[in-house]
Amino acid sequence: MKFFGFKGGVHPPENKIQTENQAVEILAAPKMVFIPLLQHIGVPLTPCVEIGERVLKGQIIADSEAFLSVPVHASVSGTVKKIENLPFPLMGNVQTIVIENDEQEEWTTLEKLPEWKNSTKEELLKVIRSKGIVGLGGAAFPTHVKLNPPADVKIEVLLLNGAECEPYLNSDNRVMIEEPSKVIEGIKIMKHILNVDSAVIGIEDNKPEAIEAMRKACQGTNIEVMPLKTMYPQGGEKSLIKAILNKEVPSGKLPSAVGVVVNNTTTAAAIYDAIVNGLPLIDKVVTVTGKGIEQPKNLKAVIGTPISMLLENCGYKEEVVEKIVMGGPMMGMAQLTLEVPVIKGTSGLLALTKQETNYCKPKACIGCGKCVDACPMSLEPIMYARLAEFSQWEEMAKYHLMDCIECGSCAYICPANRPLTEAIKIGKAKLRTMKK
Ligand code: SF4
Ligand code: SF4
Repeated sequence: MKFFGFKGGVHPPENKIQTENQAVEILAAPKMVFIPLLQHIGVPLTPCVEIGERVLKGQIIADSEAFLSVPVHASVSGTVKKIENLPFPLMGNVQTIVIENDEQEEWTTLEKLPEWKNSTKEELLKVIRSKGIVGLGGAAFPTHVKLNPPADVKIEVLLLNGAECEPYLNSDNRVMIEEPSKVIEGIKIMKHILNVDSAVIGIEDNKPEAIEAMRKACQGTNIEVMPLKTMYPQGGEKSLIKAILNKEVPSGKLPSAVGVVVNNTTTAAAIYDAIVNGLPLIDKVVTVTGKGIEQPKNLKAVIGTPISMLLENCGYKEEVVEKIVMGGPMMGMAQLTLEVPVIKGTSGLLALTKQETNYCKPKACIGCGKCVDACPMSLEPIMYARLAEFSQWEEMAKYHLMDCIECGSCAYICPANRPLTEAIKIGKAKLRTMKK
């Protein structure tokens, strides 16, 4: 296959070397787990357990009938101690179920479909939903919805995002290296659901071990591995489609508009576990790194583990840390407290020093246009900062603000350190409020 590349993008220091060769270690579950009821794009869930109730590992503890929703599960067996609003890593407070771990590891009965080839699309999607599977590349979009495009849309290609283009992160990389057959089996299940012949796994060329592992696991299948020239934000759906298939997804449309569904490689492994082993999504591999960490690692932690535990396990050097980020440095969220939990979408925890955060005061825009050149969505970030200064939210919409994927490439490249991503996030929030 030919590599086509995508428009724009930047190449920040990769900082992957610290954890790329660190095999995943299992972190023991904590005494208390904190399970927020909003871990997917969509509406918050309603608890289906009560305070004082005993729950089994893997049991559904909250769900919703809303179209865009998936349940959450107990990640330990134990007793529900509290259901209350607690700090949430993606902003503000969210209703959270607190379970005291009884350390019995007593599992609920697990529904599974090991003979999945004999199952219908509907049966498989039902199980994928019931196991709480969401996109693990960051967006946390419910996977059963993504795998069920409208009947009049013909999907021709399934693309797998193994780019992991954010600096510092190696969680997808390690899953591909350590569990390649799970990823491939998960892809086969998705192909069966979507009724497509063709699947391509895109992996950036700074992950040679993952490329080799996935190539070996692909042998004898019609799944192909495509090495991609490392460039941020190649993992964005539209960038990946352009880089591998040379197709442009029109403004405001989904990848299915060009006959493509994109899913993350770690999501593929989670689908395999859900269908074949009956396992709900109750743990996640998290890269813990940054100069504020003595022993950078890739840890597998149960959902609901406070991030303080992961940091302490890796030798957290509080005195030198300027900022804690959940996710990568480009799109991750700065954390105000260490008492927020690991959630389904957590791929990394960065303990960054002053030198790494590299904060400089904003200066006046010099009109260099570098932000426009770097934008993978062909937008004009320079206009967003100007318009936001004067609260011109509707004007921002005319410049296709809602197509922005908040990748941060414009802010990264700006020589004047203009707060472009902040302007974009505020503008989007204002427009959403105005729509209501
Ligand atoms: S405008 Fe949005 S999509 Fe374009 S570079 Fe900036 S953050 Fe990324
Ligand atoms: S990169 Fe920064 S300085 Fe250059 S045009 Fe964009 S906002 Fe202005």
